[in-house]
Amino acid sequence: MSNSDTKPNPSMAFSTLKLKPELLENLSSMGYNEMTPIQAQSLPPILAGQDVIGQGKTGSGKTAAFGLGLLNKLDVKRFRIQTLVLCPTRELADQVAQEIRTLARGIHNVKVLTLCGGVPMGPQVGSLEHGAHIIVGTPGRIVDHLDRNRLDLSNLNMLVLDEADRMLEMGFQPALDAIIEQAPRERQTLLFSATFPEQIESIAKQIMYEPTMVKVEGNH
Ligand code: ADP
Ligand code: MG
Repeated sequence: MSNSDTKPNPSMAFSTLKLKPELLENLSSMGYNEMTPIQAQSLPPILAGQDVIGQGKTGSGKTAAFGLGLLNKLDVKRFRIQTLVLCPTRELADQVAQEIRTLARGIHNVKVLTLCGGVPMGPQVGSLEHGAHIIVGTPGRIVDHLDRNRLDLSNLNMLVLDEADRMLEMGFQPALDAIIEQAPRERQTLLFSATFPEQIESIAKQIMYEPTMVKVEGNH
């Protein structure tokens, strides 16, 4: 292999992005130096405020793509729910919340709250009363909280659908519809998925504004 093949590609460096300096510093401490292909393609339009559909296999780095996008947009001084990330399962929601917390380490006092089914409502209601900037949860439980007026989405400016294909397979379409109905129209919407069946295309048409499509075949 020639030397030029092993050199990092400068266009893939996170430092080429207009990210908050705290995020850039933290990325290098995490050992994230170069973007993965899906990050390199999706982050510029995400940071420009566009709606983005990202399609890439498991392990391609989709979490940091939307995680950096939402953290860069977040106004930490406003202690209101500004971002909602929807995931198909509790395990995935926990992983996503953990990755967002790790990415957010350089920014003081970012509050990430998970709201998933399969656990009692009571403690979640208590946590909601204390407030959060970012909610990561499963659609059914988010709807339960909305129905009980425990969750205020009026300050939301970013909605993320992670593993959208799996959420639809699991029958979450009605829950997604109910959530979107309560989300402000003026928002950025990101949709990530491993596959892109017709049902996703139709939901994207309904809930997104002129989305940029990013598709990455392999992992690296
Ligand atoms: P996906 O959601 O596409 O399945 P993940 O977001 O879970 O993928 O990322 C897969 C793995 O790659 C995780 O362990 C994550 O920490 C790591 N990772 C993501 N982006 C980078 C990067 N730019 N540099 C190094 N590791 C990364
Ligand atoms: Mg993922």
